[in-house]
Amino acid sequence: MKSIIDSHCHVMREYFGDEQKEVIERAFAEGVVQMVNPACSLTDIGEVLTLAERYPGIYAAVGIHPHEAKHWQSDSESILLRAAENSKVVAIGECGLDFFYNHSEAAQQKEVFAIHVKMAVALKMPIIVHCRDAWDECLDILEEHGQGQVRGVFHCFTGGPEILPRIKKLDFYVSFSGILTFKKSAAIQEAAPLVAENRILVETDCPYLAPQKVRGKRNEPSFVWHTLDKLAELRATSAESTAKSCVDNARELFALPVLN
Ligand SMILES: [Zn+2]
Ligand SMILES: [Zn+2]
Repeated sequence: MKSIIDSHCHVMREYFGDEQKEVIERAFAEGVVQMVNPACSLTDIGEVLTLAERYPGIYAAVGIHPHEAKHWQSDSESILLRAAENSKVVAIGECGLDFFYNHSEAAQQKEVFAIHVKMAVALKMPIIVHCRDAWDECLDILEEHGQGQVRGVFHCFTGGPEILPRIKKLDFYVSFSGILTFKKSAAIQEAAPLVAENRILVETDCPYLAPQKVRGKRNEPSFVWHTLDKLAELRATSAESTAKSCVDNARELFALPVLN
């Protein structure tokens, strides 16, 4: 059977309510063999760990989303460090900078993101980076605190080809979401074939951003196949080989085991 890994999804009760179990089981039934479900806030940590403990195929990441940077407090770092000790936590994140929505002040976002980069370096864990309209600042922080010391992924990639040289220098992965399938995403589509085969990932970032073919619906991990198909088409290769690369790459980055 075909297999894929959703490298970034939010399969939380907040979004799926009573259908949460059904959505997760549908993903497994449709060949989404593993998924990474990152926390966005300290409040999320309890549930991401519970889900990861309940389902062998679900992994957690712990971090504070840039939207939530304003809620950073003196004990936030120690709470994250403690959570990161759980064996199902495979990354630090999601964290980063979002100057599109600016739900937290830029200075605070930068400060909180830098703390996450330093944590990932100290723990030798990969980092899941959310970057929206903040490429220079985001890359500056990663280069300053993590160059050569931290591995990670730019999740839900919304950049164009011009961003790729610095990402390549950091040796980061690039994860494509449903945005890749939208008609207006010319720059992202132009970048897609330029990323090295061993650095591509796919994700849903559900519950938002459903791919074009199911646009308007609530997004869920089983829809990751639509993005995979688009990525394969743009890279002028088969869906099978692209899926295999995405699976291998996710396992490599997050040190995921091969489940039977
Ligand atoms: Zn994000
Ligand atoms: Zn996310």
